[in-house]
Amino acid sequence: MKKAEGLLLVISGPAGAGKGTVVQALKAEDDNIRVSRSATTRPPRGQEQNGVEYYFLTKEEFEKGIREGGFYEYARYVDNYYGTPKKPVEAWRREGRDIIFEIEVQGCEKMKKIFPECITIFIQPPSMQVLEERLRGRGTETEEKIQARMKRAAEELPLASLYDYVVVNDTREQCCRDVLQIIRDHRTRA
Ligand code: 5GP
Repeated sequence: MKKAEGLLLVISGPAGAGKGTVVQALKAEDDNIRVSRSATTRPPRGQEQNGVEYYFLTKEEFEKGIREGGFYEYARYVDNYYGTPKKPVEAWRREGRDIIFEIEVQGCEKMKKIFPECITIFIQPPSMQVLEERLRGRGTETEEKIQARMKRAAEELPLASLYDYVVVNDTREQCCRDVLQIIRDHRTRA
């Protein structure tokens, strides 16, 4: 019997909206979920490690990946490259996994072209003030980087309407519950 196709989920939202925490909690809740690990040229933040949060690449390595067609999509975000490697995703697709891509808005548009069936979810912070508090609370970035991320957030928030779902991240528990509900509804439909 052919394995059922897994769901493809793109999750976006401004830096500091809490996407990363929500995605990790979803993965822990459901063992069919896999999270795509992106490559980036930005340096590791805090305790981040190569091959865990991201594949941290040099600009040269990243550009080689682009030339070789190794990414489904890539984008520049606040002076760095970010991209979605194809290989692991292809294997998970064959296994029928549900795959989450935590990527920004331009990446979402590109993924939607490649995989029109993908479900897109925008995680919204309760307010710009909360967003700024969360970004500062990380304590890992310079004032300049925080300002650049806030500016990018202001540009991204109006694009929420392009997504299939908008989920407000008031608390991590509620936000995870809402996203899990979306995943389960789509599985039932599939
Ligand atoms: P951060 O530096 O905070 O980890 O990520 C910055 C932004 O890049 C976030 O909005 C994140 O969702 C996005 N991002 C992470 N990986 C990818 C990717 O592979 N492709 C694209 N287009 N955006 C990504």
